[in-house]
Amino acid sequence: MRKIIAAGNWKMHGTRACVSALIGGLRSKVPADAGAEIVVFPSFVHLEHVSELIAGSPIRLGAQNLAVEDQGAFTGEVSAPMLADVGCEFVLVGHSERRTLYGESDALVAAKFEAARRHGLIPVLCVGETLDERERGTTEEVVARQLDAVLDSSGVDALAKAVVAYEPVWAIGTGKTATPDQAQAVHAFIRGRVAQKSDTIAGSLQILYGGSVKGANAGELFSMEDVDGGLVGGASLDATQFAQICTAAG
Ligand code: PEP
Repeated sequence: MRKIIAAGNWKMHGTRACVSALIGGLRSKVPADAGAEIVVFPSFVHLEHVSELIAGSPIRLGAQNLAVEDQGAFTGEVSAPMLADVGCEFVLVGHSERRTLYGESDALVAAKFEAARRHGLIPVLCVGETLDERERGTTEEVVARQLDAVLDSSGVDALAKAVVAYEPVWAIGTGKTATPDQAQAVHAFIRGRVAQKSDTIAGSLQILYGGSVKGANAGELFSMEDVDGGLVGGASLDATQFAQICTAAG
């Protein structure tokens, strides 16, 4: 049975004080035995601080990005060993903001996925179509291409220790959530594509939905057969909202 994940992507938000208040709020609102896996993804500069704040709680730590290389003359980059060293267990790869604003290609995303794995981090591979791609009826083609880039370079076994997040770009930060049926259809497609290579890995793969998840819609989305939780942006910055999402996930 797959465990439900409530993941909070804090993006480029917060100060040390805000982050302390947010974790304090979450720790008081989410029961220790919430039943869900809870992961927060602060900015790089807040990782170590958050790692101290979550000690002894069920909340786990992830980063929003990583470099392909392990070390060297790469000004401004942060490597997988550095993330592991400050207590990260997870890392986002291929978030649509990285793909669109920073030009990350499928090949680069696949290389980042592999860099994470090399150092024992769990990559959360984000895939999803734009509004234009959905309207042209190419959602499955786009998602398949993004998924295949990783399957082809790392192999299906790599997904045994990875998470996939389906995030339709048109639903991110827009307040337009995919309907539970729309999310389920793409999640089932992703699981089916992985199953063509391994039924076992497909069956245990946690596939998250992301795109305007809130306390009010999380329960309905997470009740769909192939939706194993959510990757949450805006609502994860509000302890009450995110705690509701964690409770729905539990
Ligand atoms: C995200 O950035 O991954 C996201 C899903 O954002 P939001 O929940 O704000 O739509």
